[in-house]
Amino acid sequence: MASRATLLTMLADLPPASLRLSIDRDALAANWRALDRLSGQAKAGAAVKADAYGLGVAGVAPVLHRAGCEDFFVAHWQEVPALLAHVPAAAIAVLHGPVTAADAAFARSAGVRPMINSLHQARLWTAAGGGACDVMIDTGINRIGLALADLAEPVIADLNIDVVHSHLASADEDSPLNAAQQQRWNAARGMVQHKRASLANSAGIALGAAYHGDLTRPGLALYGGIPCAALASEIQQVVTPEAALLQVREIVAGESVGYNATFVAAQPMRIGVISLGYADGYLRAWSDKGMLRSSGRPVPVIGRVSMDMTVVDLSAAPDLREGDWLAVDYSLPEAAVTSGLSQYELLTLLGRRFGR
Ligand SMILES: *Cc1c(COP(=O)(O)O)cnc(C)c1O
Repeated sequence: MASRATLLTMLADLPPASLRLSIDRDALAANWRALDRLSGQAKAGAAVKADAYGLGVAGVAPVLHRAGCEDFFVAHWQEVPALLAHVPAAAIAVLHGPVTAADAAFARSAGVRPMINSLHQARLWTAAGGGACDVMIDTGINRIGLALADLAEPVIADLNIDVVHSHLASADEDSPLNAAQQQRWNAARGMVQHKRASLANSAGIALGAAYHGDLTRPGLALYGGIPCAALASEIQQVVTPEAALLQVREIVAGESVGYNATFVAAQPMRIGVISLGYADGYLRAWSDKGMLRSSGRPVPVIGRVSMDMTVVDLSAAPDLREGDWLAVDYSLPEAAVTSGLSQYELLTLLGRRFGR
């Protein structure tokens, strides 16, 4: 009998996935350049945590690096190796910082900068041997970060700080918290030795020069998200999910479609089943609401989205056959309104079964 290893070598090549993410690399690079320009005197970096917001860091990081981006942010230490394959270690900072001695040892061996978020993290980093690091100052979001009062501690004075960061809680709104946080961040800049300062995420860039410092940290807008009206004319759509038709069928008036029969045909219909479901991040929020396109023709979702499949109405595209591809309407600001999900969720949900 053939061994398991031999059987695997006898398999034909794995066929292409029946769903894929179309990523517009030119739009991605153009979005970075627009955000870099809007950052004024500051240079734009890029938040590429969560696998570049679900797009795939292997496809995204080289495009941004070629466009001129020199600062990349991930959240977890586990995200470093995939990014290191595409950008220099000196360009990487890890937002969660070293919580354990193993984290600090890894940061030193990889040559990436940890974000120091607490006195505990500062002590760990120093005990591990230290080196260039960033610090996150909490100026009002009350998530992670050092308090202004912590900055007087000797363990902070001893750090070799590249970037002093803070993070805005309400950059996408006209809120008095923005100015209050900006002032506290400015105060922090006067309290510790550092090379660069950074405050703004995507929406923060639109708040103007006082929020720019030396470096900005856009994420969402790079990938086509529009967090505030001021960015609407600057940002292009990057991501379009596409799915292949698995089956085409005819149903008669009165027949229902999908789990719990939420859709009932009013007349005879030609329907299609696509290889896309909630396990791929196309959540049940799209049931009876989502829209796909074939050469611009509307192909609406009918019935409940299920785990691996969704049913569509082919009335406007009757020529479609098994294996043909459909594009999902996924303009993020509009998709957020229709689905009730945030633009961030719409991106980071996109699952592993998409070919990227
Ligand atoms: C995720 C993140 C960003 C990017 O924010 P967007 O709103 O996606 O532009 C910037 N800074 C920090 C600290 C983050 O965690």
